[in-house]
Formats: sequence, C-alpha cells, structure tokens
Amino acid sequence: MLSILRRRLSWRTRDGSAAPGGDPDRVFMARCLAYLYGGGSTLGLISVLFFASQPTENRNGLLATIVGGYLLAGICIAGFDRISHRTFQVLSTCGTALIGLAIYFNGDPRNDNEFLYLLVALYAFYFFTPLQAALQLLIIAAAYGWALLAIGGEALEQPTRYLIALGTLTVAGVMIGFLKRDLQQLIGRLDTAARTDALTGLLNRRGFEQVFESELERARRGGHALGLIVGDLDDFKALNDRCGHHAGDEGLTRFAALLDKAARRIDTTARIGGEEFALLLPETTSDGAWRLAERIRQDVAEAFASGAVPLTVSFGVTCYPDHGETGEQLLRAADQALYAAKELGRNRSVVHSAEVASILVGATGRRDAQSQGHLATMLSLAEALDIRDSGTAAHAHTVGRYAEGMAVRLGLPTARVERVRLAGILHDIGKIGVPDSILRKPGALDEHEWAVMRKHSETGARILESGSLEDVRGWVLAHHERPDGTGYPYGLSAEQIPIEASILAVADAYEAMTSDRVYRPRLSTAAAREQLIQGSGSQFDPTVVGALLELLDAEGEAPRAAGAAVAHNGHRGANGSEAGSQPGTTAPGLQRL
Ligand code: GH3
Ligand code: MG
Ligand code: MG
Repeated sequence: MLSILRRRLSWRTRDGSAAPGGDPDRVFMARCLAYLYGGGSTLGLISVLFFASQPTENRNGLLATIVGGYLLAGICIAGFDRISHRTFQVLSTCGTALIGLAIYFNGDPRNDNEFLYLLVALYAFYFFTPLQAALQLLIIAAAYGWALLAIGGEALEQPTRYLIALGTLTVAGVMIGFLKRDLQQLIGRLDTAARTDALTGLLNRRGFEQVFESELERARRGGHALGLIVGDLDDFKALNDRCGHHAGDEGLTRFAALLDKAARRIDTTARIGGEEFALLLPETTSDGAWRLAERIRQDVAEAFASGAVPLTVSFGVTCYPDHGETGEQLLRAADQALYAAKELGRNRSVVHSAEVASILVGATGRRDAQSQGHLATMLSLAEALDIRDSGTAAHAHTVGRYAEGMAVRLGLPTARVERVRLAGILHDIGKIGVPDSILRKPGALDEHEWAVMRKHSETGARILESGSLEDVRGWVLAHHERPDGTGYPYGLSAEQIPIEASILAVADAYEAMTSDRVYRPRLSTAAAREQLIQGSGSQFDPTVVGALLELLDAEGEAPRAAGAAVAHNGHRGANGSEAGSQPGTTAPGLQRL
C-alpha cells in the first residue's frame, strides 16, 4: 500500500513508467492535482489549527472544505492513470467550489484564501487547452464572486480586491500557457534533433527505426508491400584518405541530396551509419525498389564521375513480406544483399535471394588470398544461379568440362585450359541481373525482356571485374558474339572474337541442346551436332565446332557432370521452340542461349 502510494506520488516516474500501460500525461496530471489538493488542504488545516480564528469564521465549515480537499487528493491518487481529461476539468471545478466555500466559511473578505485560486488557474493553463482554461477562470470568477456576495457587507464594498485577484490569475495563467507552448516547441525541436542527422538533414538511425516500425505496421494492416533499400558508399575511405574529411562530408551531403531527390513524398530517407543510407518505400515490391536503386546508383555514378575520387554506391534491396516480417529481419536481409553487392564488385544493386546466401557462403569460405575468396564467391554464385535456372548445378560445370576438352584439342596452353574451364563454369553469372519473371517466363520474351536478357554477358563481365579474373571476364563478355557480326553486346567480327569466347559459345550451345527443357525434350546428339554444323561460320567458329565434334567422338558423347539429367534454362518462344529474336541466321534450338 505504502509502496503504491510512493510510486504514485514520486516525481521520478514522470514518464508514467510506474504505471505500466498508463498514459504518461494523465498520470502526471493526476499526480500534480493530488499535490495541489493535498498542499492546499494542508495550508488550510494549518491556518485553522494554529492561527487565531476570526469572529466571523465557521470552523466546522472550514474543516469540511479541508476534508473535501483531502478527499479530492485521494481520488486523484486512487484514480491515477484512469482519470479522463474531462474528469480532470470536473475535479478542478470541484477545487474552485471548495475554495469558494472556504472563503465563505471564513467570513472575512480579506482572509486571503483566494490565493488558493492561483493553484487552480496555473493547473488549468498548464494542462488544459486555452479555451478550457478560460472556462475554469470563468468558474473561479463566479465562485469567488458568489462567496463575496454571500459574505456581503464589507466584501461588496471592495470590488478592487476581486478585480485584482482575477486579473492576477489571468496574467499568471496566460504566462504559464505561453511558457508551456515554448516548452512544447523546445521539446519538439529536441525530438526532431534527436531523430535527425546533423550533416545531411536526413533521419538518423533512431528516427529511421521509429518510422520503419510504424510503416511496417501500416503495411501489415493494409496488406501492402514495403520496399527497403540499404546503400553503402563504395570505397569511401579512399575519398577521405585522399581528399580529406571535409571532401568526405561534402560527398555524403551530395549523396544524401540525390537520395532525397529520387525519393517520393511518402518515402523515407535516412542516414543509418557513417556512409550507410536507407530508403523506405511504402507500397513497393522488391522489383520496384530494385529499379529505383538502379536509377539512383546510375545518377550517383554520373554525378560523381568527374571527382578526384569518383564515388559509387552499392545497394541491397528487400521488401516486406517477401524477405522478412520484422524490421530486424528485413534490415538483416538488406544488409546481406548489400554485402553480396560489395562482393560482386560494388557499384551495383542486389535484391535479396537464395543466391545472395550462397555469396555469403562463398565469402565466408575465404582462404588466404582475397582473390581466392572472390573466386570462391563467384563459383558459389554460378552454382546457385544454375540451380535457379535449371534446378541443378550441373549445366555450368558441364559447359566448363566441354570448354576444357575443346581448349585441349585446340592446343591452348595448359594454364589457359584451366582458365577456359573456369570461364565455362562462370559464363552465365550475369544472369543474377535477370529477374525471375524473365528467366522463368514460360512464353515468348518481348523486346524489353530481350533487352534485359541480352545484358547478362555485360553484367557477368562487370561482376568478374574485381579479383584476378580479367581474362575470364573478357571471354564471358564475348560469349554471345558471332562470327557473322550479329552477336551481342558489341557485334564483333570473327577476327575480333577471342577463341576462348567462341569455345564458350559452342560448349554452351551443345550442352543446352542436349538437355531436357520444360517445354521440349533434349535433342538427340546427332541432331545437336547437325545444328552445330549448320551454324558453323555464322553463329559458331567452325574450328571450334570441329574441336567439339572431335572431342565427342573421342569421348563417346557427353562428358556430362554428375547428375546427367540437366535441364538447362533456355528462353523459349511461345510455341515452345527456342526460336527468338536474337539477330542473325540461327539454327533452331540455338537461339536462346
Ligand atoms: P566499402 O566499399 O567496402 O564500403 O569500403 P569503404 O571504404 O566505404 O568502407 P569502410 O567501412 O572501410 O570505411 C567507411 C569510411 O567512412 C570510414 C570512415 O572514416 C568514413 N566515414 C564514416 N562516417 C563519416 C563522416 O561522417 N564523414 C566522413 N568524412 N567520413 C566518414
Ligand atoms: Mg562503404
Ligand atoms: Mg560502411
């Protein structure tokens, strides 16, 4: 009991934490009112007990008002966090009435009991709206007026006392009202400052987490998606080291401005770490978020291209509910995707996926040298992508083995043979940039989808940029070039295409043709050979085709990787054939590799 009393009267629990679930404002209001009634009643009691009584005084009446005051204090303590705002106004009015009665029972108009009205007025102007406070002031004027009228006689001859008392209450109340408004504005400014990053003006991590929670709640209730992009500036330390922290700060500010400009009004932008930023996108799926991330990424690369240290940014993209239910899960997934973007060479955007997890596995499998780690990452990624495409991780390895065999037959040096095999495994790594909606589309690809699809060799080359894969990178870039000059991405002529790229093209084509697809069974080896021969000179380098045919003859057909039933992902036309819009004359079955 005593501990409850102590808790309810203790100023240290100003925030209402002593009353779990209680409204902190109401708790504070109840505690203040209890103090005012307790204090006022005690003052009255002291004056009754210790000072000489007036001849006009009604002692019992006075004691009754004092008891009334204590009762009201008791109600405040008992009701504590359950008293409504309206009840507080009623309680204040009761206080006003009690003071009126005290003045009346005292009987002497100069008894100074009206000072107690100051307590009610200050309370009202601090806690109530200006209108409610003005109403309380009117009630005081009426109660005090009534008391003076009831006393009559001398009291009525001194209206100045009444007017001065009310004037003082009004001025004091209004002042308290202004002070409170100032205080509220100050608290508001402090609150904003506590949630804002001083350098960029964006939300800081704390502010971001608050908004994230409420946006997540809104997405949950409305059944909407919520996109999240987390970005980290690439090699930012280099900018600081070479140009100084001031230039670094300027870079951060400029980047923040670009981010803010790209965001819609309903989006939230935040700086959640030193050079880490986040963008929250209500009602946006990961596809939409990825597109925006890519746009910002390109804008940033362009805007900073001419600087002493050109800045770029990597983004990790996730969305609710696809990649997590809680803020923590989504942030973790976005961080993983961001990490993957860094591992894949920076200056890119990666949506979280199972492939991202494989990149992390590759990265943690690092051995001594960094390039080894990068390679392990690339290989894990290639396998994961293969599984995404075809359901097995065998296609890439089989292409690698064909490529290796052809390289041997073509007399390439041993060291290069190994690199060609590696290139075979990695040739489709750029497909991480091709969304599932295109990669797994059952029908024909339209022009736009083809454009995205064709980017995969360039994307692959960019992914392989970092690390010691410079040679492999060039071959992967050119593995869809054709001797007749109609290949992509550059339309190179026969002489310009590296032999290793031609090897990849033939290995990839043969492996694809002799694999089952969802929409057609594999071609017979004879039919596949025929297609290669038909495409010789236009789509394929004839020497390389010759090398594969020799290899197949020598090995008695497919040197397939384990788990022979490989379903290579191809992209099919509406009729289930592989005919597509790849330019040039292409043998059926070979066009959509
Ligand atoms: P990565 O591509 O892997 O992200 O490399 P990085 O150099 O960007 O990453 P790292 O974490 O090594 O370095 C981040 C740097 O950001 C280090 C720190 O000095 C700098 N930084 C963090 N906050 C600020 C800031 O407010 N102002 C400036 N000028 N630099 C900052
Ligand atoms: Mg960084
Ligand atoms: Mg960082």
